[in-house]
Amino acid sequence: MDVKRTRSPRAPADADADKKRAAGWRGGVRPHMVLVGFLITLPILVFVFGGRWGSFPSSSSPTTTSVPNVGSRQVVAGGVAMTQTSQKIEAPKNVSAPTTSLSQNKLLGGLLSGAFEESSCQSRYKSSLYRKQSPFPLSPYLVQKLRKYEAYHKKCGPGTKRYRKAIKQLKAGRNVENSECKYVVWFPCNGLGNRMLTIASTFLYALLSDRVLLMHVAPEQEGLFCEPFPGSSWVLPGGFPHNNPQNLHIGAPESYVNMIKNNVIRNDDPGSVPASSLPPYVYLHVEQSRLKLSDNVFCDEDQLVLSKFNWMILKSDSYFAPALFLTPMYEKELGKMFPQKEAVFHHLGRYLFHPTNTVWGIIRRYYEAYLARVDEKIGFQIRIFPEKPIKFENMYDQLMRCIREQQLLPELGTAEPANTTADAGKVKAVLIASLYSGYYEKIRGMYYENPTKTGEIVAVYQPSHEEQQQYTSNEHNQKALAEIYLLSYCDKIAMTAWSTFGYVAYSFAGVKPWILLRPDWDKERSEVACVRSTSVEPCLHSPPILGCRAKREVDVTAVKPYVRHCEDVGFGLKLFDN
Ligand code: GDP
Repeated sequence: MDVKRTRSPRAPADADADKKRAAGWRGGVRPHMVLVGFLITLPILVFVFGGRWGSFPSSSSPTTTSVPNVGSRQVVAGGVAMTQTSQKIEAPKNVSAPTTSLSQNKLLGGLLSGAFEESSCQSRYKSSLYRKQSPFPLSPYLVQKLRKYEAYHKKCGPGTKRYRKAIKQLKAGRNVENSECKYVVWFPCNGLGNRMLTIASTFLYALLSDRVLLMHVAPEQEGLFCEPFPGSSWVLPGGFPHNNPQNLHIGAPESYVNMIKNNVIRNDDPGSVPASSLPPYVYLHVEQSRLKLSDNVFCDEDQLVLSKFNWMILKSDSYFAPALFLTPMYEKELGKMFPQKEAVFHHLGRYLFHPTNTVWGIIRRYYEAYLARVDEKIGFQIRIFPEKPIKFENMYDQLMRCIREQQLLPELGTAEPANTTADAGKVKAVLIASLYSGYYEKIRGMYYENPTKTGEIVAVYQPSHEEQQQYTSNEHNQKALAEIYLLSYCDKIAMTAWSTFGYVAYSFAGVKPWILLRPDWDKERSEVACVRSTSVEPCLHSPPILGCRAKREVDVTAVKPYVRHCEDVGFGLKLFDN
């Protein structure tokens, strides 16, 4: 096929280098000249780098390493700290891709720490090269806050004397006054998209409340993400005394709200509550129940009491970051961290989540094979929820209406056009993420059997069709993560309503998606095919009851200029900028 293929301007340098290697030596310089040059420069290189060859990127680098002293569990570590802040890695000469260096560019303007060994987690510095530059400038205050947090995590995290002391106190049933280190332990709930949103929310909460974030990593989640904090681990070590997820539910006696109800603790005069009078830990249950966040804890009085616990265990199924913005005592700090409110998950997600080398391999291979050289990438994510099944024909019809109305793909023609239009020969890649193959089959068939009016080429791809969600399969989650990332490299995204999987993808991308609305409960089809999201923030499906102890129903969108109801979930809340 004679297709005009322009190289994606932001494709990573090493992809080109790999291809050059694969194609054999074709440059003007002969190999023996290179060898002579290399032998001359070798002593200089040894002097400059002190023989640290291992710190350069390598495709065969290990994906898992052990962080010492973090308990009995093997953890995936994105590289233990190396004090390298501005190591320059030059791209090979004659390669059009951008120079790669651990410069501001590669560190996303300071969002990422430079203190990692690059090869241990290649996605950390390479993934963003597959995307357009972020449209959301980073606040220097957030950068400062992240570096401060990293130092705190390193000081108090697993393997430290302080961590052992805190565990000892927890086991002894004591909550001591003025503890140097406080912790929030995240427990998983639901699928990967939900988990990523709640991890980011919990991290934001940790930043605001000076806690160290630790994660209970279930087997299905092992080996998915690199460590985000240099020189330490965010994996909850084995031996944590309250490790049983079965005990974390709305009725748990250790839940904050139940402790208040049962007069174990009080929140009417937080200043008068001595920390030493409190139980050794508190459980925060932040899940949706009857379209509300179950615990009404996003109030100053509650936060003041909660801040006295040295250990907090948190389980959530919701992107509760917007609820933190609605807590008066955090509002000002959040304003400094995020002058643009709609970039909260966009920045935190890009900071926290880096697929391990194994998952990155899946992503990179797929991207290079199918997406790297196209002119435009359009992602469709189709998620059918069991609680609101939609017939295939209805969903497909809705997707087609959205594509037509929003002109997401070229129209079909009746005859092969003469190559005269400006777009003729351009390639649009359609990436479909779905558990089912039907949408892919039909769209691919359509563009296989018919020409387009403009002469554009439409190439349709779907990395997997797993048929069913598998909560406990590690391999299944690797594919899900890979697809979230591949979607996030698209220039345009259309997704089905309510899906946290899609929220993560568009938010990483910094792209406002078209949302395919869900039909009303009593209907089979949605009248409106899709609407454009007003923001790149995920939706909090169930808002907290505001008004705190007064328990007044307040529509915060009428009071706060930076929240509005979500396009797909009418009562949900979403941060946005005017
Ligand atoms: P949500 O349920 O749509 O909000 O998203 P979650 O990510 O929390 O849960 C859905 C889970 O189903 C994912 O984590 C995957 O395990 C699986 N899944 C759903 N859609 C896809 C898809 O398009 N591709 C793959 N590989 N897995 C999917």
